[in-house]
Amino acid sequence: MMQAFWILDSYKERKAHFSEHVNHILDQVAQDYCEEIAQLPKVNGSAREHQIMDSLLQFRFVQTEKLPAYSFRIIDNSDKSLKPKQSKSIIFTQILDCKNQTKKSIILSIRDDKIYFISSILGWIILSSLLIIIGIIALFINISFLRRQKKVSRIQSDFIGNMTHELKTPIATISVASEMLMKDKVLDDRTKSKRYSTIIFEENLRLKKLVERVMQIALFENGTMRLKLKETDLHQMIGNSSEAIKMLIEKRDGSITLEMKAKKFNYKVDTTHFSNIITNLLENAIKYSPDNLVIHLSTIDYSEGILIGIADQGMGIAKKHQERIFDRFYRVESGDVQNTQGFGLGLYYVRRVIEAHGGFIKVQSEEGKGSRFEIYIPQL
Ligand code: ADP
Repeated sequence: MMQAFWILDSYKERKAHFSEHVNHILDQVAQDYCEEIAQLPKVNGSAREHQIMDSLLQFRFVQTEKLPAYSFRIIDNSDKSLKPKQSKSIIFTQILDCKNQTKKSIILSIRDDKIYFISSILGWIILSSLLIIIGIIALFINISFLRRQKKVSRIQSDFIGNMTHELKTPIATISVASEMLMKDKVLDDRTKSKRYSTIIFEENLRLKKLVERVMQIALFENGTMRLKLKETDLHQMIGNSSEAIKMLIEKRDGSITLEMKAKKFNYKVDTTHFSNIITNLLENAIKYSPDNLVIHLSTIDYSEGILIGIADQGMGIAKKHQERIFDRFYRVESGDVQNTQGFGLGLYYVRRVIEAHGGFIKVQSEEGKGSRFEIYIPQL
C-alpha cells in the first residue's frame, strides 16, 4: 500500500519535472525555429515549417533524453478552433513570434505514458520491493525463530517436569525399601530382605537407564558423539538383544518370533549404539502392549542394504502422532499408567543413531492393532 502511494507520488513529481523540462526545450526550439526561418529565402507552406520544427525538436530532445511518442502542430494564433483535446496526452503550447512572420504557436502533444515515467524510477521500485521482500522474509524468520524458542523452552520445562516425576518414584521406592532393610525384624526374615534388596536393585537399574539415556542424547546434541563402526553380524546382534529381553516378555506371558531372511547381514555399525536401538524398540514393543504380547522381529535384503522390522500387536499409534514420535521429548499421552511412563527420548535417540549410519526409520501403525517399526541401514 505504502509502496503504491510512493510510486504514485514519484510519478507525479517526475511528470512535473518533465513538463518543466519540455517547456524549457520549447523555449529554445522557438528561438532556433525563428533563426532557421529567417535564414531561408522563403518558407514553402506548412509542410516545410513542420519539417524544420520536427528536426529542431528531435535535435533538442535527443540531446537531453529519450522521449515517449509525440506529435505537434503549428497553428496560426488567430485560429482558436484548433485547440487540441487529447485527454491521454500532455499538451504544451509555445508561441512562435518570429520577425516578418505572422504570430504562430506550436502545440506539442506528448503521450502521458505512465510506463515511461515509472521506468525511470523502476530501479528504485525493484530495490524497494526487494527490501520489502527481504523485510518480510526476515520477519518470518524472526517469528519462526521465536516460535521455535518458545517450543524449546516449553519442551525443556516439560522435560524437567517429566524427569523430576521419573526420578521421584525410584528414589522414594529405594528410600522406603532401604529403610525397611535396616529394621532387624526384616533382616531376620530372608524372604523379606531378599524382596527389598530386589526392589532396590531394580529401581537403581531404572535410574541408571535413565541417566544413560539422557547422556546418550546429550552426546548427540553437543556433537561429540563419534560412531565406532565395526563389521558386525546383525543377525547375531538381533538374536542377542531378543534373548536379553526374553525374560521381560515371558514375565508378561508374551512371545517373540524371529524371521531372519536377509542374505547379507554383516554391516559396519556402531555395536553399542546399534544394540541400544534394537533394545529400545523391543522395550517399547513390550511397554506399549497388553499382556500376552506378541513381537515379531525380521530382516530382509532391501535396496543395497538391510531392512529390520520390529512388529507388535499392542496399542498402536494414531496417525496424527506417527510422524512426531521420532521428535525429541514427544510422547503420546496415554494416561499415567505405570508401564507407559517415559521421556519421549527413546525413538529420538533411535532415529539419530540410524541417521548417523546413513539409514532411516519408519513406522506403520494402527490404533488398537499394533505397530511395525522398520529400520533401513545401507551398505557402506
Ligand atoms: P517414551 O517411550 O519414553 O515415551 P519414545 O521416544 O520411545 O518415548 O516413544 C515416543 C512415543 O511413541 C511414546 O510415548 C509412545 O506413545 C509411542 N510409541 C513408541 N513405541 C510404540 C509402540 N511400539 N507401540 C505404541 N506406541 C509406541
